[in-house]
Amino acid sequence: MNALHKHTPPLLPFTRPLIDEETIQAVAEVLRSGWLASGPKVAQLEAELSRYCGGRPVRVETSATAGLEMALLACGIGAGDEVITPALSFVATANVIRRVGAHPVFVDVGLDSRNIDLQAAAAAITPRTRAILPVHFAGLPCDMDALYALASRHRLRVIEDAAHAIGSSWRGRRIGSFGDLVVFSFHPNKNMTTIEGGAICGGSAEELKLIELHRWHGLVKSGPDAFDALLPGGKSNLSDVAAAVGLGQLRRLEEFNAKRRELVARYYECWGTEAPVRLPERGDAGHSWHVFTPLLPLEELRISRFEFMEAMKERGIGVGVHYPAIHLYSAYRALGYRAGQFPNAERIGRETVTLPLFPAMQLSDVERVVSAVEAVLRGARR
Ligand SMILES: *Cc1c(COP(=O)(O)O)cnc(C)c1O
Repeated sequence: MNALHKHTPPLLPFTRPLIDEETIQAVAEVLRSGWLASGPKVAQLEAELSRYCGGRPVRVETSATAGLEMALLACGIGAGDEVITPALSFVATANVIRRVGAHPVFVDVGLDSRNIDLQAAAAAITPRTRAILPVHFAGLPCDMDALYALASRHRLRVIEDAAHAIGSSWRGRRIGSFGDLVVFSFHPNKNMTTIEGGAICGGSAEELKLIELHRWHGLVKSGPDAFDALLPGGKSNLSDVAAAVGLGQLRRLEEFNAKRRELVARYYECWGTEAPVRLPERGDAGHSWHVFTPLLPLEELRISRFEFMEAMKERGIGVGVHYPAIHLYSAYRALGYRAGQFPNAERIGRETVTLPLFPAMQLSDVERVVSAVEAVLRGARR
């Protein structure tokens, strides 16, 4: 046993950003340039992201959370309005709805897709509904035809939480290159990073103007030596240091996402027909695979998810949880939500584990994870 432990490989985390030397050099140049806040690098990142998204306007900001909040404000959504959103996502997806004063109306998600159930969304529409805020979970696009058909039938704005989905496409069309307002995240765990950061893609001319005002104090130039504040804006502009990181990441995004797809293909190969876990919907080549999140067969096990995670850690493998169901958090129970309302979201929230997936991983790492999962589960059956 001790001999075995001596050869335990270093911890394989569930994710790790890949920053190359060229990017580190580019950051050093910005630091020496004397211009650190929003400047030429931010302008360049917006231009390159816009090119990546089919020429649509792009506004970068300090996070996807800030981007989603500003997108809602720009659509004029506030007190008395309802926004339909999935019960399974990162909590920010729903928090932003409340932060602008509107009411989040949760609906369930597909058990394997993790994406919003659009029939349930249709049934949740009321005269107060103003928008749908779906998530492309793990980078698997929602059914965009059905989503936008529903939205246009009821004259709803769509704000896409595309935090997981930079580089995803729906039937050959990149997420962000069409649709209403599409918000990406560049947090270090996401498919590309600016350390902290996000981008809004799309929007009408009027909405873009409002986003710019909310992003920077509400200020506009009103004369050669004068500014006017048109509204009480916040401050969510990205720095040039962060933008330099983003430019280095965007250059390699296609390569990163290809590697993610290759690693996931290995997971599916290893677990073709008799997976010991419930695999997520596989999607097609348009899936950008932000996370790989199977479900544990907890009802067949003597151990809890936490004990599973601890056992994986003992084998040198980091495991995450993405995510608990949002409506069961205290802040949402306070609105009257309760257990039993969204069975798929609740089951996923209980059973999901995030297995390692990041571009610097090797195919042999996938095999190591697969063996460890099998060993832990084998020893834990009832
Ligand atoms: C990460 C994430 C966010 C928030 O992104 P930040 O850039 O960290 O603000 C929002 N929604 C989802 C689904 C996310 O995974």
